[in-house]
This record gives sequence, structure tokens and C-alpha cells, in this order.
Amino acid sequence: MRLDELSSVDLKKRMTEKPVIILPIGGTEAHGGHLPLCTDSAQPEKVADDAAKRVGGLVAPPLRYAFHSSTRNMPGTLTLGFETTRMVVQDILEALVQNGADKLVVLSGHAGSSHLVALKQACAAIVSGHPAVKVMMLSDYDLARDYPMDQTGDGHGGLVETSRMMDIAPGLARKTEREGHYVSHGFMIVPDPETSMPSGYVGAAHEASAELGRKINEFIVDRLVEEIERSFGVGQ
Ligand SMILES: [Zn+2]
Repeated sequence: MRLDELSSVDLKKRMTEKPVIILPIGGTEAHGGHLPLCTDSAQPEKVADDAAKRVGGLVAPPLRYAFHSSTRNMPGTLTLGFETTRMVVQDILEALVQNGADKLVVLSGHAGSSHLVALKQACAAIVSGHPAVKVMMLSDYDLARDYPMDQTGDGHGGLVETSRMMDIAPGLARKTEREGHYVSHGFMIVPDPETSMPSGYVGAAHEASAELGRKINEFIVDRLVEEIERSFGVGQ
């Protein structure tokens, strides 16, 4: 259930049960011509809704902005700064703690390494300030990577992401005509990182299917539920 569907009175009552709160963090980011800008938002929101149902948790209102580096110059990417990202997530978590939350899961659909560092710093500040609060932080792609299939060379907007979106939002996502390739700049920091992805995506998005996406999405939810049950000692 979504936390903001409750009334103030009902939320206060519900929080006395100390439910797990999942905060989905997405983004608004270019994902080639075949996927919507909400791709990184739709995935963790779907996973959060499904996992929360199974662990009796609540889903906090999602954040649909993130820190983007490699796609920041592409049309449609709306990036926050690194510090803004860290601070907005820290403020949201702090507000949840003030409302009685003590089991928090930050689930990011955007898996950019710098973005994840910003989230990790926000989470670290919360556990430092509130030692009784437990915080888990991960990207759903940390779990997708364990899905048993060859994912070599697959990346942004590729086979896994396109398949997952064809399952979650069939009206918004479609497979591509050809594979997308990554162009390396070696160790160079370049002003036009989008040139690493000439087609806007990386991987075999032409082989994507809703059926594969459904299996991967179910796998991710199962794994997240396992992690929540193990780490917070909750479950049915
Ligand atoms: Zn993505």
C-alpha cells in the first residue's frame, strides 16, 4: 500500500506497528527511442508495490528525479545535482523517521554509480543520527544481475531493462530493431559522455520480450522480499 493513501490519523496508528517502509527512487532519463523517460521510476515503483504487499509494508511517495551523468546531455534527462540528490533523500528519510519509521528500504531504479553514492551517504547520515533505525539501500539492478542468464554487455536500456518495461508498461515500451553498442573513452572524463551510447542504449534490446521481463521482475521481487525478511526479521 502507498503511504500517502492513508489519512494522517490512520498513518499514525499504522506506524505503531513499525512496518517496513520502501522508498522507490527513480529518475527522468533518456533511455533510447524505445523506452519512456520514466523507465527508472516505473521499475522500482512496481517492485516496491509488489514487495510491500508481501511483507506488510508501506511504499513512500516515490522520487522521480536523480543525479545523472552519462545521459545528462540527452533530450529528456532531468538531472538533480549530486548534493541535491543526497540532501533530498536524507530529508525524506528523516521525515519518515520523524513519523515513526524504523525499517527503511531505499530502492533505486537508476543505477548510476555516482547517484548510488549520493543515496548511500544520505542513508549513512540517517543511521548515524538514529542508531535504532535500520536502513537498506540497493538498486533493483543489484538483484537483476543475479537473474540466471548471460547479461554480458547488457546495460542502459538494453535487454533486461527493455524486457522489464515491456512487462510493466507495455503501452510505453517496445523492443528495438537492432543491438545497441557501448563506445569506450578509456579512462577519460569527457564533456559529451552521451557519445558512449550512439544509439542511446546498450545491449540486445532487439531480443527483449515481456515474458522475459515478467520473469526478471518476479525474480527481483522474490529476492527483495528475502533480503527484507532476513535483514529486518519480518515476514509472513
Ligand atoms: Zn534505466
